[in-house]
Amino acid sequence: MTVVSPVRPAVGPNDPGRVVVVGAGMVAHRVVEQMLARGEAAAWEITVLGDEPYLPYDRVHLSEFFDGRDADALAMGPSVWDDARVTLRTGDAVASIDRDAQEILTRAGVRVPYDNLVLATGSWAWTPRTTGIELPGVVSYRTLDDVTALRDWISAREQQLGRPLRGAVVGGGVLGLEAASALQRLGAHATVVEFADRLMSVQLDEGGGETLRVRIADMGVDVRLGTGATRLVAAPDGAVGLLVLSDGSTLDVDVVVFSTGIRPRDRLARESGLAIGERGGVVVGPTCRTSDPLVWAVGEVASYEGVCAGLVAPGNAQADVVVDQLLGGTSEYAPAPEGTKLKGVLHDGVPVEAASFGDVNALTPGALEVTFADPVAKTYKKLVVSDDARTLLGGVFVGDAALYSSLRPMLGRNLGADPSAFLAPEGGAAVPSADLPDDVVVCSCANVTAGTVRGAVTEHGCTSVADVKKCTKAGTVCGSCVPLLTKLVNTQLEASGVEVSHAMCEHFAMTRAELFALVRAEGLRTFTEVVAAHGTGRGCVVCKPVVASILSSLGVGHVLDRANAPLQDTNDHALANMQKDGTYSVIPRIPGGEITPEKLAVIADVAREYGLYTRITGAQRIGMFGARLEQLPQIWKRLVDAGMESGQAYGKSLRAVKSCVGQSWCRFGVQDSVGMGVQLELRYRGLRAPHKFKVGVSGCARECAEARGKDVGVIATERGWNVYVGGNGGFTPRHAELLAEDLDDGMLLRVIDRFLAYYIRSADRLQRTAPWVADYPGGIVELRKVLVDDTLGICADLEASIAEHVEGYEDEWAATLADPARLARFASFVNAPDTPDPDLAYTPERGQVRPARPGEASDPNPVIARTIAVRPSDVELEDAL
Ligand SMILES: Cc1cc2nc3c(=O)[nH]c(=O)nc-3n(C[C@H](O)[C@H](O)[C@H](O)COP(=O)(O)OP(=O)(O)OC[C@H]3O[C@@H](n4cnc5c(N)ncnc54)[C@H](O)[C@@H]3O)c2cc1C
Ligand code: SF4
Repeated sequence: MTVVSPVRPAVGPNDPGRVVVVGAGMVAHRVVEQMLARGEAAAWEITVLGDEPYLPYDRVHLSEFFDGRDADALAMGPSVWDDARVTLRTGDAVASIDRDAQEILTRAGVRVPYDNLVLATGSWAWTPRTTGIELPGVVSYRTLDDVTALRDWISAREQQLGRPLRGAVVGGGVLGLEAASALQRLGAHATVVEFADRLMSVQLDEGGGETLRVRIADMGVDVRLGTGATRLVAAPDGAVGLLVLSDGSTLDVDVVVFSTGIRPRDRLARESGLAIGERGGVVVGPTCRTSDPLVWAVGEVASYEGVCAGLVAPGNAQADVVVDQLLGGTSEYAPAPEGTKLKGVLHDGVPVEAASFGDVNALTPGALEVTFADPVAKTYKKLVVSDDARTLLGGVFVGDAALYSSLRPMLGRNLGADPSAFLAPEGGAAVPSADLPDDVVVCSCANVTAGTVRGAVTEHGCTSVADVKKCTKAGTVCGSCVPLLTKLVNTQLEASGVEVSHAMCEHFAMTRAELFALVRAEGLRTFTEVVAAHGTGRGCVVCKPVVASILSSLGVGHVLDRANAPLQDTNDHALANMQKDGTYSVIPRIPGGEITPEKLAVIADVAREYGLYTRITGAQRIGMFGARLEQLPQIWKRLVDAGMESGQAYGKSLRAVKSCVGQSWCRFGVQDSVGMGVQLELRYRGLRAPHKFKVGVSGCARECAEARGKDVGVIATERGWNVYVGGNGGFTPRHAELLAEDLDDGMLLRVIDRFLAYYIRSADRLQRTAPWVADYPGGIVELRKVLVDDTLGICADLEASIAEHVEGYEDEWAATLADPARLARFASFVNAPDTPDPDLAYTPERGQVRPARPGEASDPNPVIARTIAVRPSDVELEDAL
């Protein structure tokens, strides 16, 4: 027998002596890392014993094994094992603990004495006692050996059978979905079998689960909900061949992955008489001590208040507590709220996004749910807030989880804006980021606060996100906080005068403006061409809409064409603006607010026939609300036939030009503001930009068209027109600033052409003109030099690109109606195209209809709903008397 650690003198304050860690996994690594970081001066020795034959590896990124990351590449910070005070022994399981003798015994017969023992044995992958579980081709998904076995089995069996394999994953949680994606990557077909009624049933609510099911099905994965595996039957050659489900159905299978949960590996602790939790796990208190003061437990094997963690963040927090305690500190473990983000699930190389945190089912008394679901874009977002709609209690995001990283740290805090504003397709409210309080935990996996991130820049001299990651460990585990981390670091760097990278996302290492210039210069025409020339990977929810918008601004194809359609934002998918009940608005263009009686009659007919709620919009148009997806083409056909066209109330493009009545009718008017409004609207209609933009034209300085609240404001003067730019309403109102004065009609158009073309080329993604003008180096003064005095010599080119746009304009709806492939997208239910959504319900209001609230008299057909008799309100009764 060998003794690896020499006997050493007594243990004193701040001197943990011989620390032995059983289990060489993620949390054990954290213990060692923290000891090295914190206990520099202390005299201690640490021995880590693991049964797996590898250096401790990053289990969270286990699926990347299929992308070629082997044991070495997955190894976690291996430099810690070089320290003379650290001994790592792998490939030898600890067989028993002798607490009286204060030593452990390994299977190979090695005895290791300890002064302090830390149990970090993690979990094992639990599988139900299904008959046939031992058949060849049935695997778990927990260790490097598991994924190696899966890869080897698939490749050997595929060769043997001479066809792609049929795979099943039992368990539709986050790991099961990761495993299904891995099966696909290995060339097998995957079916996910889940006992609950939805995928990720622990983390998602019903709506989120359903949206995720649709997205997973889109990957080509079959999803079987509400049923479980009861039996596995062997094929004639003895390998797994059939999976029998609890609903009586069967699946032909060649490979089965079980991902049905985990159980703490507490056998050693049990056998040595330590207290064990009711549901397993080694009982620990806030100091992470077990029932023996010399034995500690951390990570998935530790049971704190009856719960064993299933994520790495609590384990890391416990490791920090134990190290602090061992070094004489007093810190204690307090579980932090957890969030979960799906990862490693790819559809055509693009991650399928699903994430949640907090009270996802709104179980807190009085909790309110604010939901935005888009069945066309297949996204679902929900915020759960307190009864006064101020405090964030939870969030669910499927299809687009960009908000997860920014909002999760706000859990339990004041949101600072109307919750619905965060969820609107155009993301109205600024998501809290750079101004987060110092105590907010940004990275929950590594327990790093906003203050620590800022301190890494200001006190530790970090000059990049990579530096901050290295210094604080933030963003190094699951990676879901990286977008927020990046914003925080960049803001702090900028405040410190350091130049920062503005890479658009992980796929494009340049800004939107730089990419725009490249796409334009090289005449690229599809996302595939753009990513091949200037990016990596297959894109994400950040870069795809940006490329779509750039291509649209450059007039490349219709937004619903085959290559462009999958890139588009929510509203562009339907060429309509989605409303709160999932129906759409129909808003034809009405230049200058002028409309003939004939067109009005068509609008009236359509609204009456389809039961659409109708009103004059703030932009002097007529909006019809409540059209179902499948009704949009029929409605638009009627409007287009009557000479109307898309008002593009949905696109990131010109919305409308608002004008006052002007010189023609008004006593004060000094120019024809309506005529100019019409001219501008017809010139810039359909012009796609980084964000929507609006224009206003007033016939005199009285400003009845509120032009200075618009992106481009035109105000008549005695000598011509003044043009103002960068105005905005909404959350951060801003008055437009004067760009040029007393322009004649021709020069006015040229200056606006230049401004819009320059903005489209150089703004950041989703940046409206107001922040673009505000952020322009030198502000409006410099902008004036470029756009009026042409100091950069680019004005002719800017004007030419608008001329090209005017030349190439076509009405998006007319072009859609002329193309059956584009029209095919307008079905609410793919397998029942004529079936309306049964969840719609309308109630009458002021002679029209609106979506009904729970308990109100309603009808799914808005035409019928208009005629429902409702009891007059008390006020109406009083008035009538
Ligand atoms: C595919 C996959 C994806 C995941 N994704 C995420 C994620 O996105 N986010 C997240 O937070 N978590 C994720 N997890 C969970 C995360 O990996 C665990 O929470 C974390 O690894 C727990 O760390 P641990 O040290 O407690 O246990 P482990 O990392 O499991 O380490 C325990 C080690 O102890 C060894 N051991 C056990 N008994 C003995 C013994 N008697 N003698 C010697 N050695 C022993 C085990 O073999 C193992 O190597 C994922 C897990 C998997 C499998
Ligand atoms: S802005 Fe001037 S011209 Fe236009 S309506 Fe008002 S007062 Fe009349």
